[in-house]
Amino acid sequence: MAKLGRFDHETDVVVVGSGGAGMVCALVVDEANLDVLIIEKNAYFGGSTARSGGGLWAPNSPATVRGGLIDSPEEVVEYLDRIVGDRVDRGRVRRYVDEVPQMMRWLEQLSPHLRDAFIWIRGYPDYHPDRGGHPLGRGVWAKPIDKRLLGEEINRLHPGVKRMSLPLGAWITSVDLRKLLAVRWGGLRKKRILVTLAWRILRARLLGERIGVSGQALATRLRLAIRDAGIPLWLETPMQSLIVDEAGTVVGVEAERGGRPFRIHARVAVFLASGGADHNLELRRRHQPGIDQDWSLGSPGNTGDGILAGQSVGAAVELMDEAWWHPVMRLPDGSPVGVVPERQYPGQFIVNAAGRRFVNEASPYGNFVRAQLDGHATGVSHIPAWMIIDHRAWRRNIICGHFPGSPMPRSWVEAGLVHRADSISELATKIGVPPDALEATWARFNELARRGVDEDFHRGESAYDRYYADPTYPNPNLCPVDRSPFYAFSLFPGDLGTKGGLVTDANARVLRDDGTAIEALYASGNVTASVMGVEYAGPGATLGPALTFAFVAGKQIARSADRASRDNAESASEQASG
Ligand SMILES: Cc1cc2nc3c(=O)[nH]c(=O)nc-3n(C[C@H](O)[C@H](O)[C@H](O)COP(=O)(O)OP(=O)(O)OC[C@H]3O[C@@H](n4cnc5c(N)ncnc54)[C@H](O)[C@@H]3O)c2cc1C
Repeated sequence: MAKLGRFDHETDVVVVGSGGAGMVCALVVDEANLDVLIIEKNAYFGGSTARSGGGLWAPNSPATVRGGLIDSPEEVVEYLDRIVGDRVDRGRVRRYVDEVPQMMRWLEQLSPHLRDAFIWIRGYPDYHPDRGGHPLGRGVWAKPIDKRLLGEEINRLHPGVKRMSLPLGAWITSVDLRKLLAVRWGGLRKKRILVTLAWRILRARLLGERIGVSGQALATRLRLAIRDAGIPLWLETPMQSLIVDEAGTVVGVEAERGGRPFRIHARVAVFLASGGADHNLELRRRHQPGIDQDWSLGSPGNTGDGILAGQSVGAAVELMDEAWWHPVMRLPDGSPVGVVPERQYPGQFIVNAAGRRFVNEASPYGNFVRAQLDGHATGVSHIPAWMIIDHRAWRRNIICGHFPGSPMPRSWVEAGLVHRADSISELATKIGVPPDALEATWARFNELARRGVDEDFHRGESAYDRYYADPTYPNPNLCPVDRSPFYAFSLFPGDLGTKGGLVTDANARVLRDDGTAIEALYASGNVTASVMGVEYAGPGATLGPALTFAFVAGKQIARSADRASRDNAESASEQASG
């Protein structure tokens, strides 16, 4: 915490972080005619938001309504109540469900770059349809956009993840990913997606298009709105600490700019949107047993700065043991790659170091890693876990971004990402798992797969499990693993970012342990303890709340400024009349 003193710059509202939460709050307060400045630590804008799939869990939003989804806010609240656990203020849950449609409506009317910019994907289910989630899903996605609209700033957009990038200017959206998997079973669907990709390559070549999809599209659209509104965004300006006055009110931030300390006065409020502690290994080791390496997919700038700065002015924290867990494989250069469709394919099963299955492989990524960490905590190593597949599955599926038909990269084997053997017992020896145990698990799995029912872990029973599965099998999630050679891929407990942090109320104000609000300090996104608690409601369940509480915070800040200016006007007129 820094003390009051001379300031280098003055504005009404300082927003710390240029991800989804930061940009949305800045747009709201700008609309209320307040001066706002966004400061960003990275040389890029967009944070993890720009790396993301660009989905928002947005029940009852214009895009879901346009798509024809009839939904009820009460059912959404009941679903969340059932899954989020007991560390979440139910007032925040209600507020989220009430505000998310309003936020989305406002966003879509705000700027030509955001008009009708979201699309509902029918049939990408909520993650727990069996506990009240909607089987058709409540996720909406940002539509693709030509990034050339950013002009020179195109090079300042945070790069996306490798997995979603295709060569020669081809691109795929989250919707297309499922269609792309149809290359597995050929026919008309395969031809259609290949023609689509060829058309996109042609346009990129002839017209120079540079289409941004998913999180790249969301961050581009928000950045264009910020630019049109004339809101300044300073890159390479990390906040170091918060500045408070004698009464404990937050009045600004101490940052670094051009290599020297730079103090910014916030006349009305500071909004923290600096993301999670994704790459702060020290903090994570302290709170998250089992996490002793950096497996996070989050933006490199997310090192918990906002959480620590908030704590230093008295903020409470919660859910520090949690993250948006997501299993990853590690490429030879060490970079993590998220693993979702692979776990829903039929010809694979996943074991721990004892050679035993420990979870429904196809379960939502959060639940998968939670089971991996809980299992690891029992003393049996689950890190890495091993995904066992056979040659048929290898030849049929897209695995770790590798398309069927091309040879396995030798570097994968050399780096230990995958091991290969002609028999299951030989494979077991290679990965250090007891051969008898792995053979027994293999035999049991094949027996269940032949019957088409996973009596042990219920794989394939949830609509979620089947989304990326292979519908050409009687049970799209199950088929025997019986064509040699066999392969074992190593899986680590990664994440999309952390989700524990500053405790906030339903108005996005940052709270102390005693429940009182820290004056003029607001926060949203991964710098806060998530309204989703220990769960992940459905696709977009991190960005949906991040943007919604940024919207709420923006409105609260505008209201507080209004109140303050009314008070000032009243006291001025009292003085004049006195
Ligand atoms: C591969 C991947 C896919 C994902 N897919 C989805 C999805 O489809 N749907 C979904 O809901 N979620 C998804 N997520 C998660 C989602 O992207 C994040 O939870 C979300 O973007 C968090 O938003 P935020 O605004 O809180 O933080 P960010 O978008 O991470 O923004 C935080 C910003 O703050 C900056 N910052 C940090 N410290 C400072 C400092 N001291 N001073 C100034 N700036 C600072 C950071 O550099 C960063 O730019 C995905 C994440 C990843 C990595």
